[in-house]
Amino acid sequence: MKAWLYFSPKMANKAVITDLVKNFDVNFNILRADIDSQGGKMLMEINGPEAEQGIAYIENAGISVSPIKRVVKKDEEMCIDCGACVSLCPVHAIIVEDDWTVEVKDKECIGCKLCSYSCPTKAIKVIE
Ligand code: SF4
Ligand code: SF4
Repeated sequence: MKAWLYFSPKMANKAVITDLVKNFDVNFNILRADIDSQGGKMLMEINGPEAEQGIAYIENAGISVSPIKRVVKKDEEMCIDCGACVSLCPVHAIIVEDDWTVEVKDKECIGCKLCSYSCPTKAIKVIE
């Protein structure tokens, strides 16, 4: 599963993620991290036999966990396939298909919002 993790200033310097890996049988991938001494957020993919227990552990430690089904969503009716978002994506998660329609590969998305900021019709949004 993917989830946004929200760190308060109090939690910003705690080694909770390190402890998660040490203590639980989980696989995780940090897709995006925007954290400083004032706190912040992290987009994380977490799987494995003890993923549920691991998530409960970090929540109990004081980190707010917000699971998401998708990172990014494009409204097909609002999108005019202008392509403005395509070259801005740092991980090439947005592609132009053979029929010139623009597609977003959610699995690759790191939630940076660059596409969202660039879209003239506000068709594309990052889910938080
Ligand atoms: S938010 Fe948009 S630009 Fe950023 S990685 Fe995801 S699809 Fe690409
Ligand atoms: S910038 Fe917006 S309208 Fe243009 S292709 Fe991307 S999502 Fe569609």
